[in-house]
Amino acid sequence: MSGSIEVIVGCMFSGKSEELIRRLKRLSYTKKSIIVFKPVIDKRWNRRNELVSRSGTAFAAYPVLTPIEMREKGSAYDIVAIDEAHFFVQSFITVIEDLRDAGKQVLIAGLDLDFRREPFEHMARVLALADSVVKLDAVCVLCGCRATLTQRLINGQPAPRNAERIMVGDEEYQARCRACHVV
Ligand code: ZN
Repeated sequence: MSGSIEVIVGCMFSGKSEELIRRLKRLSYTKKSIIVFKPVIDKRWNRRNELVSRSGTAFAAYPVLTPIEMREKGSAYDIVAIDEAHFFVQSFITVIEDLRDAGKQVLIAGLDLDFRREPFEHMARVLALADSVVKLDAVCVLCGCRATLTQRLINGQPAPRNAERIMVGDEEYQARCRACHVV
């Protein structure tokens, strides 16, 4: 069977996990075997063994530290899904291409841009290599327009450009449109 790479990207609060879960639920009616990975860094809701969307729907998920683990564990499955893919870095591209070349249907969800509006490099490559791409948007919390950007706030203020690219701490995030987004 020929493999594929299907990608769901967008800013935070755009419903990427929700869309991934929707597709997985639909695929779960087939006879194909499914495994879901997410980076260990994602401790959302403290439900480590589930993929959870903000609306509360869930799917069993396997936390991994590196893409290499996904290649090893994913080899026994027909469908390999990866949430929060922007957190992965080294070897991610090689691994997803290997999985696809091995005939897997690879579903990937993640941020396309960081809080400075700059692409996560490996996600830009994923988009170029993908067989299908869906870019979701959200609603700007300030003006209600279509939001495609993620605003990071630290103590209620826009995060400085030189802040760490990935933080897991006291920062907050909002979906914002281009006019309301501040770096
Ligand atoms: Zn706005």
